[in-house]
Amino acid sequence: MTAESLKDLTIDEVRGAIAAGRTTATALAEMHYERIAAGDKEIHSYLSVSRERAMTQAEKIDAMAQRGELLPPLAGVPIGIKDALVMRGAPATASSLILKGYRPPYDATAVERLERAGAVLLGKLNCDEFAMGSSNENSAYGPVKNPRALDRVPGGSSGGSAAAVAAGFAVATLGTDTGGSIRQPAAFCGVVGVLPTYGRISRYGLIAFASSLDRVGPFTKNVKDAATMMEVLAGRDALDATSSEEPAGRYLEELDRPVEGLRVGVPQEYFGEGLDPEIRAAIEKVLADLKAAGCLIKPVSLPHTRYAVPTYYVIATAEASSNLSRFDGVRFGLRDAEAKSLSDMYRKTRDAGFGSEVKRRILLGTYALSAGYYDAYYKKAQQVRTLLTRDFLAAFEEVDVLIAPVTPTPAFKLGEKTDDPVKMYLEDIYSVAASLAGICAMSVPCGQTRDSLPVGVQIFGRHFGEATMLQIAQTIESAQQSS
Ligand code: GLN
Repeated sequence: MTAESLKDLTIDEVRGAIAAGRTTATALAEMHYERIAAGDKEIHSYLSVSRERAMTQAEKIDAMAQRGELLPPLAGVPIGIKDALVMRGAPATASSLILKGYRPPYDATAVERLERAGAVLLGKLNCDEFAMGSSNENSAYGPVKNPRALDRVPGGSSGGSAAAVAAGFAVATLGTDTGGSIRQPAAFCGVVGVLPTYGRISRYGLIAFASSLDRVGPFTKNVKDAATMMEVLAGRDALDATSSEEPAGRYLEELDRPVEGLRVGVPQEYFGEGLDPEIRAAIEKVLADLKAAGCLIKPVSLPHTRYAVPTYYVIATAEASSNLSRFDGVRFGLRDAEAKSLSDMYRKTRDAGFGSEVKRRILLGTYALSAGYYDAYYKKAQQVRTLLTRDFLAAFEEVDVLIAPVTPTPAFKLGEKTDDPVKMYLEDIYSVAASLAGICAMSVPCGQTRDSLPVGVQIFGRHFGEATMLQIAQTIESAQQSS
C-alpha cells in the first residue's frame, strides 16, 4: 500500500488488510500522517493532529492482530473528528477564537465509541465557527478548499470532515449537522454523509449550536462504510437525555436486501425553479435507476417547504443565542486581560472571540426571543416546525423514502457568497426541513457536472428509518458504479 493508494481506501479494506497481515494499523496511521503533511497545507482540513493517541491505539490494534484475536469493526481505521466534538486533552476550538487554548478533560460519546471499536483517531477537523455556515469560510482559522476543485468551497459547516475523506486524509470522519452541515459538504466533495434521526447518536461532547437540531454523523467513501459507522455510533447514551431508547438497527445486515417494491416519493417542492439543470438531470437518472431496481416512484407533496429556511433561521439562532452565552471568558478559552470590570471583561472577550457570523446570529436569536417579539417569531416558528414535521409524516404514510436534491447548485467558488448572508442561507433550502422534522437523511454521490464537480442526491427516511434509507443508498451507489 502506498500513500497514493490511500485515497480510495475503505473501512472494509483496512480491516481485511490488517487481519490478513498485509499491513499494520501503525503503518496506515503513519501513511495518513505523511499524506496529510504533504497535501493538507493546500486543503487545510485539519486544525490539529493527535499523533500520540493515534499511535498508542494503532499499536494496541497491531498487538491484537498479531495474537490472532478477533478484530473490532473499525480496527486500525484512521478517522478524523470535526472540531465541534471534544476529544480528551486535544484542543477543541469549534473553529472559534473564543475557545483558544481550551483542552477538554473528556471524550464525546461518539468519539469514545469509535475508539472502542478500534478506530485510530488522527486529529481535529476544520469547520465553520460553531458550525454556523455553508462554506467553511466562517472558520477563524481560515477556509478549507474543495479537493475536487481547489478554487471552490468544500461546503459547510463540516467542510474539513468532507474534504479529508475526499482527499484521502482519513478513511472516514465525524461531522455534525444542524441544518445541512453533513449532507451539503458530502455532496460538494463527492462523498457519503449521513444525518441520523435526532436521538439516534449521542450529542454528549458536541459543542452546542442549536440543541433541538444538532446531530452527529459520519462521512465515508461508500455506503457500506456508512452502515458500519452507524452500527458503531448508534444507541442510547445515559449522558445525553435526548438520545433514544429505540434499539439500533442492523444496518450492515440489511444493506443488500432487495429494494423491489419499496415506494420512493418525489416531493415536487424540491424540484422547482432555481435547481441547477445538471443536478436535476443527475437525480432523474437516479430515479430511473431505482425504478429499474423495482422501486415504485411516486410524486408527493410537502406543502410547507417554502417556510423551512425562515423557520430554521429563527429557531437555530434563538437556540444559539442561549447556548453561546456560556462563552464569557470565565470558564473556557479566551479572556480579555485588560478589562477593568467583570462586565467589561465579558464584553471585550466576546467581541474579540466571536466572528461576525456568530455575532449576527446571537443578535438575531436574542431579538427573536425578546419580550414583545417572542410570540411573533420564536413561537410562530415552533408552530411552523410542527407543520413541516406533519408534511413528512403524511408523506411517509404513502412512501418509504423520499428523493431530493441536496443543494440547488454544485460547489460554488470561494468568496462567491461571503458578502451576502441571505444568499448563503438560501444554500440550505433543501436541507433544513429534514433537520426541523428530526427525520434521517443522507447524501450519496450521483455523478458529476460537465465541469467535473460532484453531484449528490438526498434520501429522506422515516424517524429511525436508517436501515431502509441505507438500503436505497446502496442501490443508488451500485447503479452509479455500473453505469
Ligand atoms: N448552513 C446552515 C447554517 O449555517 C447549517 C449549518 C449546520 O448544519 N451546522 O446554519
